[in-house]
Amino acid sequence: MSDSCLFCRIVAGEIPSTKVHEDDLVLAIRDIAPQAPTHVLLMPRRHVSSLADLTDADGALLGRLFAVSADVARAEGIETDGYRVVSNHGRAAGQSVEHLHLHLLGGRAFAWPPG
Ligand code: AMP
Repeated sequence: MSDSCLFCRIVAGEIPSTKVHEDDLVLAIRDIAPQAPTHVLLMPRRHVSSLADLTDADGALLGRLFAVSADVARAEGIETDGYRVVSNHGRAAGQSVEHLHLHLLGGRAFAWPPG
């Protein structure tokens, strides 16, 4: 855990969040500023700064993150219409919290390419 990392503090329970799933590897919470009717953030419990820090050794973690995103999408009722899963790395992509997370977005239509 990094004391200065917002999501590490959420994982540790020091900052409140609205949890939708938690297990030994992953925490999923509702985004505080939702960009769609469903906007859930899925993050590893342990600190990983971004996509750029992932290695082959993180296969089980990545599998779990995507499997949980599919479970949450089903539970949120957005599977049939469709949804988007994205992760931002770095300034140009708009990453604002340096703790790896997937955005699960659904409940409306999305443009492609993204803005
Ligand atoms: P990103 O900009 O891709 O790094 O995504 C960070 C996300 O974290 C944004 O969508 C923020 O709205 C969200 N966020 C920031 N602080 C909190 C918080 N305390 N609880 C839940 N979501 C948050």
